[in-house]
Amino acid sequence: MTDQKDTRAVLQEIVRDARGLLEWRQSAGLPLEMASGKAFVARPSVAAPVVMATAKIGAPAKTTTAVVAERKLVVLEDLAAIRADIGDCTRCKLCKARKNIVFGVGDPHAQLVFVGEGPGEEEDRTGEPFVGRAGQLLTKMIEAMGFRRQDVYICNVVKCRPPGNRNPEPDEIAACEPFLIRQLGAIKPKVIVALGKFAAQTLLRLETPISKLRGQWHEYQGIKFMPTFHPAYLLRSPGEKVKAWDDLKLVMKEFGREVK
Ligand code: SF4
Repeated sequence: MTDQKDTRAVLQEIVRDARGLLEWRQSAGLPLEMASGKAFVARPSVAAPVVMATAKIGAPAKTTTAVVAERKLVVLEDLAAIRADIGDCTRCKLCKARKNIVFGVGDPHAQLVFVGEGPGEEEDRTGEPFVGRAGQLLTKMIEAMGFRRQDVYICNVVKCRPPGNRNPEPDEIAACEPFLIRQLGAIKPKVIVALGKFAAQTLLRLETPISKLRGQWHEYQGIKFMPTFHPAYLLRSPGEKVKAWDDLKLVMKEFGREVK
């Protein structure tokens, strides 16, 4: 009986989540149809009929753990679906010189997401974001905050390397940003940290310099949003690390973590 009650509560949560995802896409101005032509709402509801069908044929109700596991798979599948939609993308000219699409890495249920600008040479080679020198610094920053790299999610505004590490151009950002919006919608983190001017300005739709944006809370699609300096900039200007740490301390406070 308790299990059935719990199952019902989890199903209600799935429906709420599905509604939330739909609202997210509507608010982000994204189509409600997947590229495959399936309605977007079809994906979150995938898990529900499985559970309901089990109940219908009189089989024992699944434990809450089992249902929650299915729900987690839905979220995982949603990120996987976004990656599948990207495919071997040629939607912008960055496809021409890239070796790998750098989608994102980390916990699909992360409460904390870091968003950078775009892959560099090492990231393009390996297909993983933030693995070069700047990535190593980011990993240290994450660990200093009391998280492990695998506890957070890390991605970029554009998924392919701009040649020669130039800045992404507006048409490239416009082509790729919908994937980022969908990633954030699937993960639904508590806090987003934007690394550097491009991520912060792109997501906030502002042209304010990063030096003015950083250090204060903003909001992105209802999620708390903290811009800070890009680790690559911190490698060039180590004197600014103190300010970046001040920004990260505000984030730590949000997670109730001890700030030294
Ligand atoms: S940057 Fe984004 S939109 Fe452009 S080709 Fe790569 S994945 Fe596609």
